[in-house]
Amino acid sequence: MIKRCSKILFTILITFIFASNVFAATSGKTSLKDLKDQLAKDKANVNAIAAKQQQVQKNIKNIEKELDEVANEIDQCESDIKTSKEKVIELETEITNKQLEIDNLLNFLQVSKGENVYMEYIFKAKSFTDFIYRSAVVEQLTEHNDNMINEMYDLIEKNKQEQKNLSKKIDDSENTIDKLNVTLKKYNLTMDDLVDDHKDAKADYLADKKEVEAYEKLYKQNGCKETTTILNCIDIPYANGFIRPLKSGTITSEYGLRYHPTLHYYRMHNGIDIGTPMNTPVYAAAAGIVTKITRVANPAKKNSSCGGNKVYVKHRVNGKEYTTAYMHLHSISVKLNDFVTASTVIGKSGGGESYDYCTTGPHLHFGILKGSTYENPRNYVNFPKLGKRFTSRY
Ligand SMILES: [Zn+2]
Repeated sequence: MIKRCSKILFTILITFIFASNVFAATSGKTSLKDLKDQLAKDKANVNAIAAKQQQVQKNIKNIEKELDEVANEIDQCESDIKTSKEKVIELETEITNKQLEIDNLLNFLQVSKGENVYMEYIFKAKSFTDFIYRSAVVEQLTEHNDNMINEMYDLIEKNKQEQKNLSKKIDDSENTIDKLNVTLKKYNLTMDDLVDDHKDAKADYLADKKEVEAYEKLYKQNGCKETTTILNCIDIPYANGFIRPLKSGTITSEYGLRYHPTLHYYRMHNGIDIGTPMNTPVYAAAAGIVTKITRVANPAKKNSSCGGNKVYVKHRVNGKEYTTAYMHLHSISVKLNDFVTASTVIGKSGGGESYDYCTTGPHLHFGILKGSTYENPRNYVNFPKLGKRFTSRY
């Protein structure tokens, strides 16, 4: 029980660490320097994934080489078995021939014994010695042939045993091939994951790079130091509060720790899900500035992204810095650095796309960060209860 609890606690802890990394990666940083630090981390992440890919590729190559070697071994065994079978046939023919020879010899002896008249004649006519002599020769010859046949039988036995050994070797090799193929499949799956991870990491990096470039420009225009906070350097529009980002929708999932429906493990859900048909206009929840846009790197590839297209808007509400996040967008209709109001359509909703493996159907994922920490959107926006529908933005 304790073990089980600690395992759950461990999972939660890991999930929070993981989730806080996600916060850091997607949060509105307070100064240009922070953003640059994040960009460096993004790049390191892209490189780390690329290094892992290389390692897995190397492992795949090694296994493929091993598979080739085992296949060659099997070929060799099969060829050896063929040679051995031919040898057995050869020996069997030879045995038949020797047997025939013995039969002939015995036959001769029999005939000699049977021809009584002739024998009698031989007895009387001093040829008994000759008869004995002939019998002895025949006996010797048959004994010699018998020995040879026995040797050949031994050889056949040896060959058959060798064939058995080779067959066993083939079976073993085939087992090895099966095992290698299982490992290879695992590596290939890992590789597929890494390819997707690499694309996501690169999309993050490129989005953060654009963000840094945009802020660099604004910081330069306003003559600010890198360490100055964004709020102090850039005139983010003021807002009094947040309203719903959709004109209508149904709350389908709450903010908080939850068992993820498609990833199948406990994970921090850092926003609220609002079910709405595809291509519904999505509005900014308050006036602000678009600070980050992440586009799906490869929309043609199934399961290539978690979260789809994303837009982040920075706000100054009652003097505090917030960022709102809009995910699973089908399309984006704002540009980086655009000033928006609560009536600006930032994009159209999605969530039904095949490239997005972190969604089960059309919906908007809406998140709010205070500073750089995701908070429950319910603390800022008036949403109905879970499963309930709303039909206005207030
Ligand atoms: Zn969500």
